[in-house]
Amino acid sequence: MYDDLFIGGRWRKPATSERISVISPHTEEPIGEVPHASPADVDRAVQAARAAFDEGPWPRLDVDERIAAVERLAALYAEHTDEMADLITAEMGSPRSFSRMGQATGAVAQMYLNIDLARDFPWVERRLGLFGDAHIRRAPVGVVAAIVPWNVPQFLIMPKLIPALLAGCTVVVKPAPETPIDAMWLAEMLDEIGLPEGVVSILPGGRETGEALVRHPGVDKVAFTGSSATGQRIAAICGEQLKRVSLELGGKSAAIILDDADIDHTVEQLRTASLMNNGQACVAQTRILVSPRRHDDVVDGLATMMSGLNVGDPADETTDIGPLVSQRQQQRVLGYIRSGVEEGARIVVGGTDSPRDRGWYVRPTLFADATNKMTIAREEIFGPVLTVLTYHDEDDAVRIANDSDYGLAGSVWTADTAHGLQIAARIRTGTYGVNMYTLDTTMPFGGFKKSGIGREFGVEGLSEYVELQTTICAEPLS
Ligand code: NAD
Repeated sequence: MYDDLFIGGRWRKPATSERISVISPHTEEPIGEVPHASPADVDRAVQAARAAFDEGPWPRLDVDERIAAVERLAALYAEHTDEMADLITAEMGSPRSFSRMGQATGAVAQMYLNIDLARDFPWVERRLGLFGDAHIRRAPVGVVAAIVPWNVPQFLIMPKLIPALLAGCTVVVKPAPETPIDAMWLAEMLDEIGLPEGVVSILPGGRETGEALVRHPGVDKVAFTGSSATGQRIAAICGEQLKRVSLELGGKSAAIILDDADIDHTVEQLRTASLMNNGQACVAQTRILVSPRRHDDVVDGLATMMSGLNVGDPADETTDIGPLVSQRQQQRVLGYIRSGVEEGARIVVGGTDSPRDRGWYVRPTLFADATNKMTIAREEIFGPVLTVLTYHDEDDAVRIANDSDYGLAGSVWTADTAHGLQIAARIRTGTYGVNMYTLDTTMPFGGFKKSGIGREFGVEGLSEYVELQTTICAEPLS
């Protein structure tokens, strides 16, 4: 239970009495409450961030001092990863096994990776230009608004907050209303490590809070992860104001299973690659492409794997699939399953009946006899629902994989890795896997097409928080 908001690095009374109640997706009972940040709170936070950036010490510190602050945060956070994983599981239903690695531990790992990057980053570079000595400085981009969704909340705050802080930016974080408590706990840790006033604010709230932040004239850059629809709206506002913006958006990724693939291995890998986090993953491999020759083997393998998944309490270590984040999300996913049936696809396993008496559960559902024109193949479902599509030959497989508004991830499954790499080069997507799909936080990650603009992770992720400034000197520096 929190009464105050973390505004400008200090706990302050919110401007209104509005609150967010977080409901457990497993029990449907309230598990905690936080204040709901209003546009007035956004204004206070941005003004504090603006003052801290324009006049405060943070952007002017030596980078080693900022690294030391992030090291303090990482060390403190690392002591609490298990509790953080438990909290995220309680808030949004991510299975405990996924929460530990994919949510909390992944958040700490990103801090240390960014610290290493910041040590070697060319903050100031000297080059010989047309007129002599030139200095390229990578200056902090300014006041950053970081807006994140609920599906991997801490894992998505980190690739914005940490590189921004290391670059010398000040940051206002807006977590999703479904997962505000983990963000408030992060605020407690930031308070404990002690940053200069104004450097970080954390403002839980919904669309109105987020949009007030995006529109605020004191914000220099918006870093957003969420749906493509919201991303388009944010990009339009940033376009009007010529604000820097990076967007990590939705996906509808295709796994191409070639005839020479090891089907058992492929199915076992797709258990995670397609269904991690209860299918609530932007990179989920949800369109499974197979030729008629291997079709039945793949459908049978997936059906056996999916009907054997343990659906239940996400806090239980043996659970594979927990509840979806909210009743709204559950109803949305059930609507997609109904649309698949209405448009003529066949349910192999799963369906719309509830697997449990309580909680926002959806049965893991596999569709066959589908086409790439169907809604279930075009739209991001964000639940444990997979669709098998048939291709005639390899060119057709590549065409179907690319026939999507999205371009976030994808994979190919084959006995020939070199050939897999050739397929990868033909797919318009930001990350790709050959006989695996996983996200590597040391490498650039982001989307082609409507999956986004810009990259997170790796040195490219840090570069999103700097502006290049060129200074040409009439005389060389001695
Ligand atoms: P969403 O777009 O509804 O919300 C995301 C965040 O934006 C939330 O904090 C929300 O409160 C805020 N928001 C909503 N409307 C806003 C507005 N007009 N202005 C400013 N902020 C606003 O997305 P969601 O349903 O919470 O999250 C799921 C989506 O996120 C999926 O599409 C998924 O693919 C995507 N996602 C992408 C990545 C990636 O890295 N590409 C990672 C995870 C999730």
